[in-house]
Amino acid sequence: MRLPIIGANWKMHKTIREAESFAAEFPADADLYRKVEVVIFPTFTALAVVGNALRGTGIKMGAQNMHFETKGAFTGEISPNMLLDAGCSYVLLGHSERRHIFKETNEFINKKVKAALAHGLVPILCIGETLEERQNGRTEDVCKEQLLGSLTDIEARDITTMVVAYEPVWAIGTGVNATSQDAEETIAFIRRIIHEKYGQKAGESVRIQYGGSVKPTNAREYFSKENIDGALVGGASLEVDSLSEIIKSAGII
Ligand code: PEP
Repeated sequence: MRLPIIGANWKMHKTIREAESFAAEFPADADLYRKVEVVIFPTFTALAVVGNALRGTGIKMGAQNMHFETKGAFTGEISPNMLLDAGCSYVLLGHSERRHIFKETNEFINKKVKAALAHGLVPILCIGETLEERQNGRTEDVCKEQLLGSLTDIEARDITTMVVAYEPVWAIGTGVNATSQDAEETIAFIRRIIHEKYGQKAGESVRIQYGGSVKPTNAREYFSKENIDGALVGGASLEVDSLSEIIKSAGII
């Protein structure tokens, strides 16, 4: 049994005060957070206050990005040990906004995945095709290329601890979600690739989320699918009520 995981990706939203009051208001339900792992990804400036507010709640925290070096002349960047220091246990890597707006390559993301694992941060590796790639029938090729390219030289035992988020780019922030059947098929394909390359244990234990316009009204459908282990949620994670509804749907499956 894989523990479902819900990630709340706040992107570039919320001031320090807004982030802190969200964390303070969020329902304390330690039993639920044992059945569904919940990870909030605030902006860098809010990490410290959100980390403090979440202490003892069972809810975890992650960062939306990081650099692979531990320190040095990398203006504007943040290192794995700085994230640990702020209270993070997770880090989002290769989000489509990083790949497409900031032109991050698989090779660059691979260095970050290795650095995260070396520092004991759990990477959530995001992969997914654009609308054009989907229309050209390239969904599986693109997912495979991003997955294997971002995981070069990573050991099978590390794969078992990490999380993959399948996020079709055309479904992120658009309100147009992939059908649960489409998401299930692509996620089953991703799991098969992991099984073939890293062995049965890695294929069975790696958690794979769906992301792309998940809302309280459609969440349950995804979570009822065999291969979908939760969701990475953007827009609907900005409000306490909608995020907690989504978490509850993952807890009752
Ligand atoms: C995301 O940011 O990863 C995401 C899936 O966003 P949204 O839920 O808004 O589509």
